[in-house]
Amino acid sequence: MGAFTAIILAVAIIMSCILIYVPNMHIIALKIEDSKLTGGRVSVMDMLKASDMELQGEGEETRKTVLKGHQIRLTLPQNVTSASVSIENFHVDKNIAISINGIGKDYFDEYPMLGESNNITDITYASENLVGVIEITLDRVLEAQMTSEGEYIYIDFVDPHEVYDKIVVIDAGHGGNVPGATKMGVYEKDINLDIVLELKRKFDRCDKNIGVYYTRTDDSNPSFENRVGLANDSKADVFLSVHNNSTASGRMSSINGSEVMYEGGDSSGESKKFASLCLDHLLGELGSKSKGTVVGDEVYIIRMSKSPVALVEVGFMTNQKELENLQDKEYQRKAAQALYDAVLEYLDEN
Ligand SMILES: [Zn+2]
Repeated sequence: MGAFTAIILAVAIIMSCILIYVPNMHIIALKIEDSKLTGGRVSVMDMLKASDMELQGEGEETRKTVLKGHQIRLTLPQNVTSASVSIENFHVDKNIAISINGIGKDYFDEYPMLGESNNITDITYASENLVGVIEITLDRVLEAQMTSEGEYIYIDFVDPHEVYDKIVVIDAGHGGNVPGATKMGVYEKDINLDIVLELKRKFDRCDKNIGVYYTRTDDSNPSFENRVGLANDSKADVFLSVHNNSTASGRMSSINGSEVMYEGGDSSGESKKFASLCLDHLLGELGSKSKGTVVGDEVYIIRMSKSPVALVEVGFMTNQKELENLQDKEYQRKAAQALYDAVLEYLDEN
């Protein structure tokens, strides 16, 4: 056997080993992914489905008040009070996490849950270090309201508009591995988020009964469907998306100023009206140049929005001065102030 044949043979053997091994690697990877996802989390949805039967044994009152498709009832062990229960609502994922301090893995064995599931698509449970987390997946955006009575905790799932006078959805553009415009090592996604977090600080202090939902408050990248879906699902009174601009070529240039996109297809004119308010306030607060309001129907979240929508481009990252401004905390605060005022003015007039 010549050296050449030996090499060919060796290559062939290596290739077939790889071919045999690769599918296995794939399966192993999937399994790891799978166990990471579950994380010891088990679906307790069957309990909810079975609770109809359990209810037969309950009093008339419970049957009437609990479980009209929008409530679940949990029973707390003696040593656990309602103060140990906290609820976090991830509106954009239609996911609600109920954390209870002091309950272990076998909690549900002893204290079954009652409920009905008109809007609940799944409930899972996991406990670590005696902190139990019940995760509820919904098919629409709902608020969770907790009341307690003795050993019982009731959680009602209600329409956001039953809780709040107005609903605002705020979207920080891009995120995760989609940075948006990138100039001099500065990512648009980060500036968008900084401004939105400033905006959140203002809304958190706002004493009006306004529900504000954010598509992201960290470096995640929700899908476009989920972003506009949050506005549509919650029937938001207004939908604001925060971005920053760059020239078409992406080259640094003298072009600068604030621009706001609206939905031309919105025949009510509300989107344009809201966009104009955003622009006016930005110009007033930042002293930036007006690039006007422009039709943005080619943008998915604008076109698909059922709520009055404005997508603001606060400034140009391709302009040296504006790029510096946009990284400045005080400038970001001013931009947030402008958008906050625009939202409140729009809601006041509607
Ligand atoms: Zn952008």
